Amino acid sequence: MSNGEDDITVKIHYCGVCHSDLHIIRDEHGISQYPIIPGHEIVGVVTQVGTNVDKFKAGDIAGVGSLVGSCGACDNCRDGLESYCPSPLYTCTMLEFEGQAKQYGGYSDIIVVNQHFAVCIPDGLYLPGCAPLLCAGITVYSPIRNLGLDQPGKHIGVVGLGGLGHLAVKFAKAFGAVVTVISSSEHKRMEATEQLGSDSFLVCHDSRQMQAAAGTMHGIIDTVSAHHPLKPLLDLLRTDGKLVMLGAPDLDKPAEIPLLPLLGRKYVTGSMAGGMKETQEMMDFAGKHNITANVEVIPMDYVNRAMDRLARGDVRYRFVIDIGSTLDQH
Ligand code: NAP
Ligand code: ZN
Repeated sequence: MSNGEDDITVKIHYCGVCHSDLHIIRDEHGISQYPIIPGHEIVGVVTQVGTNVDKFKAGDIAGVGSLVGSCGACDNCRDGLESYCPSPLYTCTMLEFEGQAKQYGGYSDIIVVNQHFAVCIPDGLYLPGCAPLLCAGITVYSPIRNLGLDQPGKHIGVVGLGGLGHLAVKFAKAFGAVVTVISSSEHKRMEATEQLGSDSFLVCHDSRQMQAAAGTMHGIIDTVSAHHPLKPLLDLLRTDGKLVMLGAPDLDKPAEIPLLPLLGRKYVTGSMAGGMKETQEMMDFAGKHNITANVEVIPMDYVNRAMDRLARGDVRYRFVIDIGSTLDQH
């Protein structure tokens, strides 16, 4: 069933398990109102289209990310920056806003969404690995593009080699950057350099390694899901270098930013997912460069164990729920 003339109905095949889902279900932001259905890295098959729909037809593959609505009238919406709309409608809402129906996310079999908030998936990409592009992918692609880090030869640091981080390495390499992974232990060194193509690897707690790389990076994509010291990262930046914070742990807790390294003309910013136009651009870029996430595909009834493993950092690099097969069996 389609709810409106601009809506498409999508039978969900795969949904990624983002660390934000974990923050939300464990109420780590202190605002979750249950019941909640998580999931905002969705790919599936369009089964019905409303009468105004021109972007999709039945049988197409569509993707839905963290946003299913926005006001459509503010400057950000008009500029294609829907994720910065002051009235966003998230795919999985944690709490009921006045006048907005609570939304339920992609750990379910069907989603109905306005075509504007769905993207076309290029042919030939491995579908389970596409799902994480809808959140993790666009969240790292957007700052690489918008901070001017998408130029060959730029030196980009990627902090935290998880779902977002490993896609940041892939996108940065595809733009021709020199990439350094900054991780909390030695464990992922081989994977980062030999499988993901990172040019070098630093352990953030090893001050000798960190000092040797001081002042070399044009930008740092920080995807760490917990609060952590920022001075060692600011020291890695060149003059005019940019540190972009993407992690979303306890959001009310202030990050401590030491002033001295900032006086070296360094910038600290953040970024939230991406607008719909650039999400489609990211997906097309992924299609051209054959970029998908490294995934562990799981059935729905494994999801609680997957959440525990995600909390322990035990995933390479994204769990993706095989919603289609799991729910078809019941
Ligand atoms: P993830 O797969 O769990 O990866 C996070 C990585 O951070 C881990 O693999 C680990 O990498 C590192 N890490 C975790 N705890 C750490 C600690 N205490 N100290 C140092 N490093 C630590 O998570 P994800 O799905 O990529 O998401 C990452 C963060 O981004 C989450 O907070 C999520 O909510 C947020 N997020 C934000 C947006 C946005 O729009 N801004 C969108 C999606 C997700 P190493 O093993 O390499 O150290
Ligand atoms: Zn997410």
